[in-house]
Amino acid sequence: MNRTEVLIIGCGIAGATAALKLARNPKRKITVVSRASDPHASNTLYAQGGIVGRGPDDSPEILLADILEAGAGVSSPKAARILAEEGPSLLKEVLQNTAHVQFARDPSGDLLYTMEGAHSRRRILHVGDSTGQTIMSGLIDALSRCPNVILETDMTAVDLITFPHHSRDPLDNYRPISCHGAYIFDRAQRTVHRYLAQATVLATGGLGRIYRNTTNPPGARGDGLAMAHRAGARITNAEYVQFHPTALAVPGAEGFLISEAVRGEGGILLTVEGKPFMSQYAPEWKDLAPRDVVARAIHYEMERHGYPYVLLDIASRLPPATIRERFPNIYERCLRSGVDITSDPIPVVPAAHYMCGGVLVDEWGLSSIAGLYAVGEISCTGVHGANRLASTSLLEGLVWGHRAAQQIEEELAFQRLASTEFDNVPPWDESGLTADADPALIQGDMQTIQNVMWHYVGLIRSADRLSRAIRELSHLSNEIETFYRTTKLDDGLIGLRNAVEVALLVAQAARHNRQSRGGHYRQDSVVNEGDRLI
Ligand SMILES: Cc1cc2nc3c(=O)[nH]c(=O)nc-3n(C[C@H](O)[C@H](O)[C@H](O)COP(=O)(O)OP(=O)(O)OC[C@H]3O[C@@H](n4cnc5c(N)ncnc54)[C@H](O)[C@@H]3O)c2cc1C
Repeated sequence: MNRTEVLIIGCGIAGATAALKLARNPKRKITVVSRASDPHASNTLYAQGGIVGRGPDDSPEILLADILEAGAGVSSPKAARILAEEGPSLLKEVLQNTAHVQFARDPSGDLLYTMEGAHSRRRILHVGDSTGQTIMSGLIDALSRCPNVILETDMTAVDLITFPHHSRDPLDNYRPISCHGAYIFDRAQRTVHRYLAQATVLATGGLGRIYRNTTNPPGARGDGLAMAHRAGARITNAEYVQFHPTALAVPGAEGFLISEAVRGEGGILLTVEGKPFMSQYAPEWKDLAPRDVVARAIHYEMERHGYPYVLLDIASRLPPATIRERFPNIYERCLRSGVDITSDPIPVVPAAHYMCGGVLVDEWGLSSIAGLYAVGEISCTGVHGANRLASTSLLEGLVWGHRAAQQIEEELAFQRLASTEFDNVPPWDESGLTADADPALIQGDMQTIQNVMWHYVGLIRSADRLSRAIRELSHLSNEIETFYRTTKLDDGLIGLRNAVEVALLVAQAARHNRQSRGGHYRQDSVVNEGDRLI
């Protein structure tokens, strides 16, 4: 049993930022848990391109216009304005001043801003092509300096503790749903603990791993989204999954991201025969069109001509030394797979990358459940609409991590958050769980989910494909639920149960929405959003 004032589930950029902000009040007691053994492990760690700053010829108005344009009419102007106005100063305060991240600078010491798709200005701050690694090291170091933050690893959240669902008091049935912490699986002790908290922050990241081809690391399986859904939180825009146009297509290195910054620095997409093709699909933006447009263009080229991939050429655009200096990580990784990017074009394919929708939250990160906040990729603030503008995700985690903490601090200071007694919350019920989890079943079912999602709920969707996906996922969901009800808990089993739940959420939202927009493209669309369709 554990009691804390604020429980933060996940310590990527969003969870870590929330914890750092709350920790400024020495009286606060904050517990951060991560399912991973290494606290750095997260999608944040993998970020390459960088984070949106404010370039020299830039303004909040210009960034706002770019976000709204990329979002294909679905971005919330209010949320996007918050990001554009507050982002750059928080970046300085949290990343530069607290986490001591040293962004790339030119020889005279000025910050270097790079370009990415659908940005009208050079405004992306970066640390080579390993921005996420530097950010995570800085944030975890900063957290370790906070005596009032307990960071626990190897702890997988299983379910949120919500009333009336988990309350022993029948009168709670007449009150609105509220969150009081979470049941957390201790992977070392193989048991579930109750963590009671006055405020709970979900910061568990995305769900790319429910797709066969993805840039996301193994932990991105939608755990938080599934927990929030089971608890009754409002989820929105689940159909808007962003596919990144350029993941490496070399056996053994599938899914490794080739950053958009490669095209930002002049890289050009080519057919296998070496012909540029983006001007046919996006004459104005060409290779720097919004991600959804580029990803579909690649998909069409592959489908039409039977290519297994297309090529991305940076070798003929920049001198070898500049490529090695600007993209050291991509250079090394490709070289290990037999591709020298200073002389050869890079084989690339699209891959699931980012969840634009999620747990609906307000401008302070509060969900539709009292006491439950969601920040970062798991949340839907409305910023990203139907298609996220490159390098805004880290910034969103920073801004909403900070804002949620600010609101929680205020609620705690004015004693507006109720604390809960352990007597009122039953311990985790493990009766009847006799079988050990069979890894073959877990892996097999996970692969089925990934294949169904890739083929039927992928880049190009239709009513027939989506209905098929829903039928197959519903059947699988029943099987997995039966398996879950009789099997001893295990991190893989928790993830499988969550993966099928969020896969169904995405497929159902995609079937319901017959308008093609951004990342959600229906062949049988009833409304075509003009020039964004190809
Ligand atoms: C390859 C790649 C490159 C990218 N490049 C960029 C970029 O250049 N710029 C940009 O802005 N964005 C980029 N993104 C997107 C961005 O990295 C993510 O959207 C962002 O980092 C998400 O941050 P987060 O804090 O919400 O989640 P994450 O960083 O994913 O952190 C999630 C945390 O939750 C924990 N967790 C998950 N499930 C559980 C559970 N059940 N119990 C306990 N803990 C749990 C994890 O262990 C982790 O600590 C990239 C993404 C990828 C995959």
